[in-house]
Amino acid sequence: MDFAKLREKMVEEQLIPRGISDPSVLKVIKKIERHAFVPKEYINSAYGDHPLPIGSNQTISQPYIVALMTEALKLTGTEKVLEIGAGSGYQTAILAELAKKVYSVERIRPLADRASLVLSKLGYKNIEIDVKDGSLGWKEHAPYDAIMVTAFCPGRPETLLSQLAEGGRLIVPIGAAFGQALTLFKKTKGAVSSHEICGCMFVPLVGKEGWER
Ligand code: SAH
Repeated sequence: MDFAKLREKMVEEQLIPRGISDPSVLKVIKKIERHAFVPKEYINSAYGDHPLPIGSNQTISQPYIVALMTEALKLTGTEKVLEIGAGSGYQTAILAELAKKVYSVERIRPLADRASLVLSKLGYKNIEIDVKDGSLGWKEHAPYDAIMVTAFCPGRPETLLSQLAEGGRLIVPIGAAFGQALTLFKKTKGAVSSHEICGCMFVPLVGKEGWER
């Protein structure tokens, strides 16, 4: 299978027509081997227009949602980024290409271990993954220029917002199991503003400032 061709097709058919236009985001998505991050049985559908199971009842997001969330952070290469929900590590790789350093938290150890292995095999040196409850962020390295949460929260993620730097952006799905809004927060002069980008469907953020299970 010609995976490079499938990636090209994914960008041309799924991302550009839906409005993804940041050249650096499109370039990175064209480059990163999404099929390296999915379980073997799904390799041939890695570039399809949908999420896929990655084990432990979790999913890798649809390529368009990955692109949309990444574009919203407006990364320029200098940022320190926090990701909550490393999952397969695919989104982590994209962030690592576009920012200076990525700290990623995952609560399920087998997923974190697999993501770390794939990312180190691919040669990423600017990523640190920890296994813990990411609803409380990763205080040690705060503040972050950008934060991405890839699981849905019940409400405004206050602790994560407190770890966002001045001028920073945080993207997170907020809502309930069958209706969530992808929400972008910005911190300007200490004040937090927010706006909803679109409806979406994620797995829950399980933790102290998330869902009980
Ligand atoms: N970005 C991932 C998507 C993974 S799905 C990818 O590209 O594959 C969301 C992930 O969030 C799951 O792996 C889930 O285990 C994780 N998660 C849920 N609640 C969490 C929490 N409180 N802290 C850290 N990770 C969490």
